[in-house]
Amino acid sequence: MPAIKTIGILTSGGDAPGMNAAIRAVTRSAIFSGFSVKGIYRGYRGLITNEIVDFKTQNVSNIIQMGGTILKTARCKEFQTPEGRQLAYDTLRQHGIDALVVIGGDGSLTGARIFATEFNFPIIGLPGTIDNDLYGTDKTIGYDTALNTIMECVDKIRDTATSHERLFFIEVMGRDAGFLALNGAIASGAEAAIIPEISTEVDQLAELIQNGFRKSKNSSIVLVAESPVTAGARALAERVKNEYPGDDGRVSILGHLQRGGSPTASDRILASRLGAAAIDALLDDQRNVMIGISNDNIVYVPFSKAIKNDKPINRELLDTLRRLSI
Ligand code: ATP
Repeated sequence: MPAIKTIGILTSGGDAPGMNAAIRAVTRSAIFSGFSVKGIYRGYRGLITNEIVDFKTQNVSNIIQMGGTILKTARCKEFQTPEGRQLAYDTLRQHGIDALVVIGGDGSLTGARIFATEFNFPIIGLPGTIDNDLYGTDKTIGYDTALNTIMECVDKIRDTATSHERLFFIEVMGRDAGFLALNGAIASGAEAAIIPEISTEVDQLAELIQNGFRKSKNSSIVLVAESPVTAGARALAERVKNEYPGDDGRVSILGHLQRGGSPTASDRILASRLGAAAIDALLDDQRNVMIGISNDNIVYVPFSKAIKNDKPINRELLDTLRRLSI
């Protein structure tokens, strides 16, 4: 493998708060170690449409506090075809880019893995997604900020729920993972979380109602992970109406506001550490790994492990939520 001189960086898939802090960290650590850096706009699409600019240290000034991604992001179907990836490779060669740092979620790292194998191209991945659904890392960039946003929203909804003595189903993001719903429920003092990880084991709604969730409360808040497995907040409210006459559930779907906002200190620090570690990994001849954090230590997780395995939910959290919601 020839020595790496120029590193390209891109953000892909869903945006997440802290991606900018990661872009800054990768750019500055790379320059610090003597590499040139190129910013690739709009994820993999920018590799196909040739949207690439030189990145100096000033290009990443004053962005650590910004949500979203200054490099923009996209979902690019063409990159899923061999022809699209060949075009992407040609663009990389044209710009003299010898290695890539890809910041994104499960899909983005799947694309990275395929591309890296196909062209024997060095890629380092950073876990950038609010869903926290990548295996091998305790946290993903953006998760903590989204969790805090959810907590603030639930606090507000609780005011109206309490005033009207209502049951509320609040739907949060997470794709097929319940981390945001479960930890959001604990952080906001909600009564329950309905999450995909245990949807096949128990009827969580029936359990909730049978446990007499409203006996000691004048309002009830249930966080629901958006997922075909949980059916979502609307379907659950509909079930309450049909199956439990007398109970009436309101619905609030938090939606895209969960992606926005200035990253928390925790996300900025995580992004900074992972971004710097991405450059260490390249210097260390690591290839095709995602940088993760485990017990506060930087770890290298092969793409195959990060994307193929389901990250387990910590059952102790479920138990804690159950005990605290009596
Ligand atoms: P989030 O978790 O926030 O949704 P993500 O990275 O999982 O982020 P996706 O839309 O799944 O988001 O993937 C982003 C991009 O990665 C896709 O638009 C596509 O360009 C690329 N990608 C995903 N899967 C593949 C694949 N199997 N082969 C090649 N490229 C892929």
